[in-house]
Amino acid sequence: AILVRNVKKIFSTAKGRVLALDRINLEIKPGELFIILGPSGCGKSTLLNIIAGLEEPTEGEIFFGDKVVFSDKKHLSLEPFERDVAMVFQSYALYPHMTVYQNMAFPLKNLKYKKKKIREQVIKIAQMLRIETLLERKPAELSGGQRQRVAIGRALVRTPQVLLMDEPLSNLDAQLRAEMRVELKVLIKDLGITTIYVTHDQTEAMTLGDRIALLKEGVLQQTGSPDELFYCPKNTFVAGFIGTPS
Ligand code: ATP
Ligand code: MG
Repeated sequence: AILVRNVKKIFSTAKGRVLALDRINLEIKPGELFIILGPSGCGKSTLLNIIAGLEEPTEGEIFFGDKVVFSDKKHLSLEPFERDVAMVFQSYALYPHMTVYQNMAFPLKNLKYKKKKIREQVIKIAQMLRIETLLERKPAELSGGQRQRVAIGRALVRTPQVLLMDEPLSNLDAQLRAEMRVELKVLIKDLGITTIYVTHDQTEAMTLGDRIALLKEGVLQQTGSPDELFYCPKNTFVAGFIGTPS
């Protein structure tokens, strides 16, 4: 499990301090598809970046299994690669000069995989994402949805322990987003990777999530299954946010 313990994040800006996260506690179970949900500016990306190791909390502790990956008391913070996480962002950030194949092979090359093993793994993941006919194209020659599949493929080729996604479908049109949501869920469940998925879209959260953590202004409002949040909201904010279709 991934444990987030009393995580607090204060940003210092020219205009003063911003409390982005206030004593967040979460437990994400192995193999779970866990959603971090909430309106713009509530702290979703900050929390995900802290779990990834891209940002350090001001206070708190984070465990991956029984391994401490961040602790304020122990002055310890592991790098993203030491945490074995893969990330997919809203902007796909593919390498424009490389083909789809080269983009997807890149993480495995870095890990010094053998050529044959790289080829097998890239083709396997490309087939799962239905982009196996696009492997020789460059990113500029793809549609937005295809590019996002490549970005997801590149994150998945090395089968990380943990997959972290920050609004990965928000650049796509509604139709494609709805299709990819379903595909993504199947793929993640097939691979059995523990996934933390950030979105501000409650429909996306309700269809994708095993469990959802809803944030408001850096404070966790409720954590539970889609049904729990829908049928037993803890406060009017939860009821309003979950009950209003996007
Ligand atoms: P969105 O849905 O718009 O992506 P979010 O929920 O991901 O929003 P965050 O990006 O985590 O929100 O930001 C949380 C709060 O922290 C916001 O008030 C934001 O302005 C502030 N913040 C984020 N990054 C910084 C930074 N580097 N310096 C100062 N303030 C920051
Ligand atoms: Mg964000």
